[in-house]
Amino acid sequence: MSNIHSGRWSLVIHGGAGSMSRSNLSSPEDAKARTGLNAALDAGSAILKKGGGALDAVEAAVKVLEDDPHFNAGRGSTFTYEGRNEMDAAIMDGTTRAAGGVAQTTRTRNPVSLARAVMTNSPHVLLSGEGADRFSVEQALEQVDPSWFATPERLRQLEELKNRSHGHFDTDMKYGTVGAVATDALGHVAAATSTGGLTGKRWGRVGDTPVIGAGTYADDRACAVSATGVGEYFIRIGIAHEIAARVRLMGETLNEAAQTVIHELGEMGGVGGVIMTAPDGQSAWLFNTPAMYRGSVSADGTRRVAIYGDEE
Ligand code: ASP
Repeated sequence: MSNIHSGRWSLVIHGGAGSMSRSNLSSPEDAKARTGLNAALDAGSAILKKGGGALDAVEAAVKVLEDDPHFNAGRGSTFTYEGRNEMDAAIMDGTTRAAGGVAQTTRTRNPVSLARAVMTNSPHVLLSGEGADRFSVEQALEQVDPSWFATPERLRQLEELKNRSHGHFDTDMKYGTVGAVATDALGHVAAATSTGGLTGKRWGRVGDTPVIGAGTYADDRACAVSATGVGEYFIRIGIAHEIAARVRLMGETLNEAAQTVIHELGEMGGVGGVIMTAPDGQSAWLFNTPAMYRGSVSADGTRRVAIYGDEE
């Protein structure tokens, strides 16, 4: 499933790839997800319309989705096997290729803003666990009680997973990781991704989301990419960087580059999707799951919000 259009500034978001269908997603759930996606597009495009930067736009869009309990990021994150919420996030500036990521954070209301603080105010790229939480306090970011992130539906999903006889990962369930990629009026690109990770993750598992080049990447010479899916495959392929590298070195279009890596992902047994924007304002999305929560808006006035694979 793919979508391509062009324009100068442009914003594309995702709310996770998965097996959502009209039969397993109720109409209230469907409507709430679309409302959330539209709110995120509003927040990001308000910045881009005024000539604001791509980095500000992706952070603003992701924060809206982190605060929305229907998506697996921030409030509404999945539970670890031990019943905790541990969040991963990353952000990258395509102009400087400065990047920041956080893994296993537990108290920062908006993990994407913590990732941005790592990028801007620390000499490091990736902070994890207790140290990331401590850095967040030092940066005076908004702290919340861990119960803020917990929702009954995610707890139910953990219980369902534990009652299954096979596996620990929700490969055939609904994901809900969130991400945004943007191109601003000056042609700069940025990417941000945020997640609670996979339901029932164990042993301090970290997914692709905060790993620069796997779940998140931005380079003004190529494009911005945010991914969602089974993170282990995305790390092994280095999906976000691979797409940017193909665009930069081989001159492929966004869609050509994405087709190749998503095909490779499928051959390895992985599922998921990607969203992309290029400096000229072109954008695209592609996924090999039945559905992906997604939306796009651009300077030419085009706006799309979709969930199922057959919606274009
Ligand atoms: N990529 C995320 C992870 O593996 C999960 C997702 O996209 O839903 O942590």
